[in-house]
Amino acid sequence: MSNDVFGKKRPGDGNALKSDKLLVTHVFGGTMSHRSIIEPFRIKSVEPIRMTTRPERRRFLADAGYNPFLLRAEDVLIDLLTDSGTGAMSAEQWAAIMRGDESYAGAKSYYRFAAAVESIFGFRYVLPTHQGRAAERILFSTTCKPGDVVPNNTHFDTTRANIEYVGARAVDLPIAEGREPATIHPFKGNMDVEALEALIAEVGRERIPLVMLTITNNSGGGQPVSMANVKAVRAVCDRFALPLYIDACRFAENAWFIREREAGYAQTSPREIARELFSYADGCTMSAKKDGLVNIGGFLATNDEALSRQESRLLILTEGFPTYGGLAGRDLDAMAVGLNEALDEDYLRYRIASTAYLGRHLTDIGIPIVQPPGGHAVYIDAAALLPHVPPRAYPGQALLAEMYLEGGIRAVEIGTVMFGSTDPDSGEERTAPMELVRLAIPRRVYTQSHIDYVCEVMADVFAARERIGGLTMVWQAPPLRHFTARFEPL
Ligand SMILES: *Cc1c(COP(=O)(O)O)cnc(C)c1O
Repeated sequence: MSNDVFGKKRPGDGNALKSDKLLVTHVFGGTMSHRSIIEPFRIKSVEPIRMTTRPERRRFLADAGYNPFLLRAEDVLIDLLTDSGTGAMSAEQWAAIMRGDESYAGAKSYYRFAAAVESIFGFRYVLPTHQGRAAERILFSTTCKPGDVVPNNTHFDTTRANIEYVGARAVDLPIAEGREPATIHPFKGNMDVEALEALIAEVGRERIPLVMLTITNNSGGGQPVSMANVKAVRAVCDRFALPLYIDACRFAENAWFIREREAGYAQTSPREIARELFSYADGCTMSAKKDGLVNIGGFLATNDEALSRQESRLLILTEGFPTYGGLAGRDLDAMAVGLNEALDEDYLRYRIASTAYLGRHLTDIGIPIVQPPGGHAVYIDAAALLPHVPPRAYPGQALLAEMYLEGGIRAVEIGTVMFGSTDPDSGEERTAPMELVRLAIPRRVYTQSHIDYVCEVMADVFAARERIGGLTMVWQAPPLRHFTARFEPL
């Protein structure tokens, strides 16, 4: 541990000397170095976080209906609820904020933003939106009609909700390994290409307005999609003349995984990898709150001029004029800088290493996680950790409550609370295929000692796992019920 960032040894670490360094050994054989991968930045502005007592947390949790979304952020010590919009901006981004041009139309900020998007993504038309789901709503309300079917490796919750809102069906087609938490696969986010062909044969190409690929596959564990898979999906789309759209939220992390794990890309820059990947697509939706390294922002891009014109009409109706799309000029400038910073090699090496570090420590403790760890988050298999809590007693949500009580850590359930629903006929609850708890890591926010603290808390949660009981849902408001649902201990 001597060359750890903080040289601090965790209790019970034993002979963790080698494995304790920030990803010196990659699961898939990246560069070996005897030096730690450190945070490639120093801190210029700090934000205090507040310790609370266990009796306080017990009260806060009960007041929040056992739903961490309903906690006050100031009552949370380490916030791993999401990596969305929670990142720290760089000095360059704050400088860009001051350059923001707040002209209503044709602002310089827009042109800087559009040039950044064009240089990385290569699409001809781009519309800024306030975040990813606004891009999704506009895309699906212009391309989908009731009865349509949209295939994806795995739809993110807002993507699915926006497709269903226009009366279409969202179908997940991950590869088999993507549904097995313990199975190691370098590109677990891949789409099952045969299943895609079978779906097209079953419903007919005219009912499929577009095919989508989510990189990285967020709901499937933050797992990457290989370039080979993108090409294979493209080939199927070509055969049936279907457009391919990328849900690009974590495009930079996905590019890094391709570089690390896919033959032929070890010497290719993340930017070149991203450019190649997007060259196979007809457009993308983007939440810049992820790999745009901003706190708000997104966009919708396409090569289809007619479609883009239709989309901008809707944009004007609900978001704003096409050169600002519901954002301030300064937000566009922050995005233009952030999209480029996200492709920095030192940043990506540290980013992926720090997620792997958390994953490895949780595994060492004995906590079952989705293997290997994803790019932005570690996903705990709550069903395997709490086998005595059935899916309808929400093992993931129960684990969240315990993590908060034990150490003031906030995370999110990705299981039956998020994806389940009540069957209108039987009144029975449909359960999700997996019961996961996601520990999402905000970008450039927490240091290694914060993550070490999380590991210590999780070791205590693990030791107490047998007495963690289930919950019952006492209130819900679908769709996206997980944001506001309330629970009580069983
Ligand atoms: C976050 C996210 C979205 C939605 O973006 P918002 O900015 O939260 O609206 C869509 N798809 C994926 C994969 C995401 O992670």
